[in-house]
Amino acid sequence: MGDMKVCSKCGMGKPVEEFSRDKSAKSGRTSRCKECRKEHYRQNREHALKQAKQWSEDNREHKLEYRKTRYQSLSPFERAIYVMANGVCGRTGENGVYNSKGIKNYLGNNPQVKAFLRENFGSDIRRLLDRGLTPSIDRINPNSHYMEGNIRVIDKNENARLGSEVANRLASKSVIAIKDGEQRIFESISECARGLGINDSTVRHHLKNGTTCRVGFSFVNAD
Ligand SMILES: [Zn+2]
Repeated sequence: MGDMKVCSKCGMGKPVEEFSRDKSAKSGRTSRCKECRKEHYRQNREHALKQAKQWSEDNREHKLEYRKTRYQSLSPFERAIYVMANGVCGRTGENGVYNSKGIKNYLGNNPQVKAFLRENFGSDIRRLLDRGLTPSIDRINPNSHYMEGNIRVIDKNENARLGSEVANRLASKSVIAIKDGEQRIFESISECARGLGINDSTVRHHLKNGTTCRVGFSFVNAD
């Protein structure tokens, strides 16, 4: 029968093999049995996880609070810049990446967009703010990208009005559907979609991109 050793934690006498080797200990074994050491680590781990979770929670609130305070400390001018830059980068992805709607941002990442707006539209932004309006970015050609030359800063409500106008105008424009050299003319996108048994959005998509839909039609505006 091998040597026995008493665990300093649970007080049980166990065969020495139940104690891990430990060169720094006089006996060459740890004072606590393997079972007790395992339990200790398990509890420690739970404690550590709990702490990490708490830390990230605290930190998250901290971050949100920090952002809020920072935003509130900005001047109205910088706030407008902040909102517009986030809008562009959120809709398009940063660094010229296409989003799901195919809008590309050529202006760069968030800080670059901010700098671009300050440099090129500073006076427009200030003028709108002075009139109590909300500056927002408008793409001059709505089918093109967020890029230099295709951007202006106008009032947010005006921008929304223009947006719905463009949508209405496009929707009511005559559409020619072309397949195998034959053309069919429709009074609007929705007439076209109904006539061909496809979705409005399909017609809009292929009309905009000049591509051919699954059932073989390509589309152009009549005028
Ligand atoms: Zn023990």
